Amino acid sequence: MSGLTCLLLAALLPILACTDDDPGDDTGDPGASPPLADLLDQDALWGRLVALEALATEHGDRLATSAGEAAALDLLRAELQSLGWSVQTQEITWGVPLRTASNLVATSPFGGAAQDPSAPVLLLGAHLDGVRDCAAINDNGTGVAAVLELAQGLSLLDPAPEVSVRVLLFTHEEWGRVGSYRYVQSLDPAQADAIVAFLNVDMLGSKNGFPLVMDGGDLGGEGAEGSEALTEALGQALADAGQPWELLDASTSVDTWAFMDLGIPLAWVFAGGSEDKTEEQAQAWGGTADVPYDVCYHTACDDLDNVDMELVMVLTRAVATVTEGLLQAAAVGGG
Ligand SMILES: [Zn+2]
Repeated sequence: MSGLTCLLLAALLPILACTDDDPGDDTGDPGASPPLADLLDQDALWGRLVALEALATEHGDRLATSAGEAAALDLLRAELQSLGWSVQTQEITWGVPLRTASNLVATSPFGGAAQDPSAPVLLLGAHLDGVRDCAAINDNGTGVAAVLELAQGLSLLDPAPEVSVRVLLFTHEEWGRVGSYRYVQSLDPAQADAIVAFLNVDMLGSKNGFPLVMDGGDLGGEGAEGSEALTEALGQALADAGQPWELLDASTSVDTWAFMDLGIPLAWVFAGGSEDKTEEQAQAWGGTADVPYDVCYHTACDDLDNVDMELVMVLTRAVATVTEGLLQAAAVGGG
């Protein structure tokens, strides 16, 4: 990791002992695998979007409680199980008449959290549901496909991380973030204390988008200091990769909000929604100013043609870099 990233992570996790900024640290053991960001496979990520669109075409959409959402959950569960992750579903009921849907909760084979609920664990989340009559490929097929690709890449790391990762695919984000709230409510104090940080991804490939990082420190609460450092680490990862990025004001309308009371570092990357792109952003990244980041936001045209895969990969690699740094820091600090 770079010296700056090390400092940011040290602020995030005070237990981290930064070593000298030795360029050799980036490669480590000559037999070790490349960094996580380099293990991500764009074709595999795209393949998941193709599969999600096919399921949405078959079922109409991926609305929470729908057959389309259940079919997508089955598909993603099978992929995570094939990687050796321990997958559970958390059934959620609500409304009148009573309806049922599930969060997917998958814990890595590495680290100790699959066996011991009090072992340290880093959370990576994305919402699986979409709006009615919509394939929901950018919102949020891209986030789901990215989180699965991170799981795939993490499974290739050699040596394997010492700290666990848990993938969370939330139901019912679109109508009130019910899935993420129910997940947080289900945690006992030992499970909540074990969480190192929570990184959320939502809408990574907006066609007229821009790399945006939500200002986690802005959320306030007990975890604000760590969230600010996590936000800066994401921005730094983008800057180190030569990409432009901007801070986004904290929003309560994402799954991150449910995790506020846990006092853990929170951050979120995003390619933009229904708001207009600015002139500065168009100059820095390309695209058209004064036009929404995603003209198909929550409409039937949010399909495979509505994705900028370059932007998806840029944002996913930034999450990968920060994820790997957090896992190393948590291992050094003993969680
Ligand atoms: Zn979304």
